[in-house]
Amino acid sequence: MKNRGEIILKPKKDESLYRFHPWIFSGAIASTSEGLQEGEVVKVLAADRTFLGIGHYQEGSISIRILSFEDEPIDRNFYIKRLSDAYHLRQKAGLIRPDNTIYRLVHGEGDNLPGLIIDIYDKTAVIQAHSVGMHKDRLLIVEALQEVVSSQTVVHIFYKSEATLSYTGDPEFQNEYLVGGENVNPIAVENGLKFHIDWLRGQKTGFFIDQRENRRLLENYARDRRVLNMFCYTGGFSAYALRGGAQQVDSVDSSAKAVMLTNENIKLNFADDTRHASYSEDAFKFLKKIEKDAYDLIILDPPAFAKHRGAIKNALQGYRKLNLAAFEKIAPGGIIFTFSCSQAISREQFRLAVFSAAALSRRSVRILHQLDQPADHPVNMYHPEGEYLKGLVLYVV
Ligand code: SAH
Repeated sequence: MKNRGEIILKPKKDESLYRFHPWIFSGAIASTSEGLQEGEVVKVLAADRTFLGIGHYQEGSISIRILSFEDEPIDRNFYIKRLSDAYHLRQKAGLIRPDNTIYRLVHGEGDNLPGLIIDIYDKTAVIQAHSVGMHKDRLLIVEALQEVVSSQTVVHIFYKSEATLSYTGDPEFQNEYLVGGENVNPIAVENGLKFHIDWLRGQKTGFFIDQRENRRLLENYARDRRVLNMFCYTGGFSAYALRGGAQQVDSVDSSAKAVMLTNENIKLNFADDTRHASYSEDAFKFLKKIEKDAYDLIILDPPAFAKHRGAIKNALQGYRKLNLAAFEKIAPGGIIFTFSCSQAISREQFRLAVFSAAALSRRSVRILHQLDQPADHPVNMYHPEGEYLKGLVLYVV
């Protein structure tokens, strides 16, 4: 094993590591060994030189992401161990089935691999690095992935990190297939519904897998309802609503590309079902112009309004305004599925924003379900920051 760089922490800054928190902020560092490069694997020591952990070093506010609290090499075997643990978890959670070929295999800290995301779409894996260290280790990760899942299971591996990495020290770097890439089938299934996934051009890795269980719950509420799916992106909620027997489903997204993807996915599953219509429009404008009582099931799944802590106040106002518009328009006896995927906003803050909107509308509102992220987006007990998706299902009279 080659000599590793070392980092020594300031006195008392080791406490969070004894509680297995995987991040070390720059302010906690007393000294670093000379010539340390971004993305390097470093050994972290307490002020008294006690071994604490091993992680990827990076410049910036989060300086180290801990990969292991044991003194072990970060090599192919390490990644094989972590990836097979992640794979077994998804198997045990019942997420890998012929009628469900879409799942998140690796969810960063939630799978003890900070900085790494791997999503599976049928026979294609999409790898996304959020740290320079994971970028530099990408070929090791590819080898480990091929070892853990059989070559029949994952045939293509697409690396997509241009949008998530600002600096890699690697000017040649681009989004590309690291394995396969020919005759790729872009269609995968979620709970029996087909979706065309555009990992080349789509947002994130191409699909919002984290809403799978919430979409399934929505299906149970859709029968005979007039459904409005705001912020539809690839039309996930719309497809479940149609399968659940909705009377009418309208999908809205400000992006014309998203509306195209939605139309394509509806067609894949329901041919030219006349119950579905889609609109490329701003959500707030759309809600303003619709008639009162026009819908009895509304889904609000906006993008993260708060991308960082500084934006919390405005984001809460945004959630209040959006939810108020839905409360004002939904028919009596209607259901609202409302979400926030802003990590910076807590469950309580989100609920309070929805509470304010409900009170302003003077409607009677009951909470039927409190929703969160599914098992393939696990929250590491020692890293509560990993909890980001929250939702409420509301009954409005
Ligand atoms: N519900 C989707 C995911 C939503 S992602 C799913 O289940 O997959 C958020 C979407 O909101 C994006 O597609 C984005 O284009 C859209 N969007 C962002 N701002 C918007 C606005 N002001 N009005 C309507 N759509 C908007």
